[in-house]
Amino acid sequence: MSNLYKCNACGTIYYAAYPDGMAFFHVCTLVENPNYQPDPGKPNYDGRELVEREGHRDENLPADLQCVDGVFGRYSRDVNDPAIVNFTKAVSLCKAEGKGRTAL
Ligand SMILES: [Zn+2]
Repeated sequence: MSNLYKCNACGTIYYAAYPDGMAFFHVCTLVENPNYQPDPGKPNYDGRELVEREGHRDENLPADLQCVDGVFGRYSRDVNDPAIVNFTKAVSLCKAEGKGRTAL
C-alpha cells in the first residue's frame, strides 16, 4: 500500500509518514472567505478573513481520543445511568475527515 496520498479537498499531495517513520498529519490550508465584507472602521482591520474550505480535512488526533489496549476511542457516561462509563471505539482518528483522501 502506498504511503502517498492526495487530499480530496485541497489537492495537496503528501506522504503519510516521513522517511524516518514519523507520522505526518495533513491539515488543509485556510482560504479567503469570498462572502466576507470587511469593515475598515473596525480595530485590527485586515481586509480579508480566512475560513476552512469546503470539505476541510484535519488529520490531527482529537484531544478527547484515548487509547485503551491498542484501541482508540472515547469514554462517556451512560445516558440512562451516569454511574456507568462506556468506551466507544472511534470511527475515525482524524479531527475532521472532510472530503477524505485518495491513495496514489
Ligand atoms: Zn487538504
